[in-house]
Amino acid sequence: MSECVFCEIIAKTIPAKIIFEDDEILAFYDATPKAEVHFLITPKTHIESMLLLQSNHQELMGKIMLKANELAVSLGLKSGYKVQINTGINGGQEVFHLHVHVLGYKR
Ligand code: AMP
Repeated sequence: MSECVFCEIIAKTIPAKIIFEDDEILAFYDATPKAEVHFLITPKTHIESMLLLQSNHQELMGKIMLKANELAVSLGLKSGYKVQINTGINGGQEVFHLHVHVLGYKR
């Protein structure tokens, strides 16, 4: 059993409310939402945090950002939203599997 909760969600060994997935990324609702709409997008490959990004992750990170906007708009955040990537201990990161938060309100 993996010790990474997001790897377990990706492996479907623990449940999550999945919004989108393909072979490289997974989007799912945050279990403790801090806004009306709050979802996370994560790469399926285990990258601990932004601190460990390398040049070969460029396309993957671009894909995550484009999907963040596409899903935000499709979920009703048409007037805007916040994107947050908590990074490392000093960045307030709690789950050490890189993920992008998307938070907003349908108004
Ligand atoms: P952070 O690492 O600080 O960027 O935040 C991790 C986020 O993951 C928090 O907002 C948690 O509510 C969320 N989270 C933790 N466990 C789960 C889970 N099993 N399913 C969905 N979201 C989760």
